Amino acid sequence: MIIDFHTHLDESWIGNKLMPEQTFLDLMNRYEVEVACIFTLEGFYGNCSMHNDNLAERARRNPQRLVPFATVNPKLGDQAVNELERCLANPLFRGVKFHTWLQAIAPSMVKETMIKLLKCAAKHNVPVIFHDGTPPYATTFQIAALARWVPAAKIILGHSGLSDYIVAAGQLAGELDNLYLCLTGPKSGEIKFLADTAGVDKMVFGSDLGFSDWRMLPECIDYVLQSGLHPQSISKIFYSNAVDLLDLKRRPL
Ligand SMILES: [Zn+2]
Repeated sequence: MIIDFHTHLDESWIGNKLMPEQTFLDLMNRYEVEVACIFTLEGFYGNCSMHNDNLAERARRNPQRLVPFATVNPKLGDQAVNELERCLANPLFRGVKFHTWLQAIAPSMVKETMIKLLKCAAKHNVPVIFHDGTPPYATTFQIAALARWVPAAKIILGHSGLSDYIVAAGQLAGELDNLYLCLTGPKSGEIKFLADTAGVDKMVFGSDLGFSDWRMLPECIDYVLQSGLHPQSISKIFYSNAVDLLDLKRRPL
């Protein structure tokens, strides 16, 4: 059984039609993904509230399978904090997603608002996942700094360093109690390195399903299966670590 911690379920992206919802659900079934955390794509550019509502609507149709993460624009200051409070008051939302690269904000530019947003997420006990691994707005170092700003917030590196910052991602997640790794990107050998450096309890599975080709999902599953880690560690990565981060034992779907 798998929980996919990093997917995008949206109509389109910069003019390109994305995978229809039914195809997305069929792929989840085919690869035994029980639950997917779903994020917007269009919402990183435009009307966050509308896209948050769209995500909630999709989750309402499949509440056992789709878990929406809200997105807000930190450049809007308290308006963003209010929007996050509005979303997290809805029990369907179980997390927050930022893509500071597509949103074009260096976290330090909006530090005051970001701290309020992370404290809000911590108050609701939901994790906050960030795209990481791409300069200038989303290096792994910039995202890891957020974990230091608000130690009560659970911060997830959405790509575990992608390709250029894998070593830093492993070291930083090993060092900071509240920094976690989502394995959307790293290959088998890198996954083994991350487990050795940060500890397997810090890692969750993710595939970016819905964003690019459907083959990403079986490919990412294979990278974990072929990492050489103990089967017990692999089932933590695929499932139980995500159950803990999403607090599903206390708040089932
Ligand atoms: Zn993504």
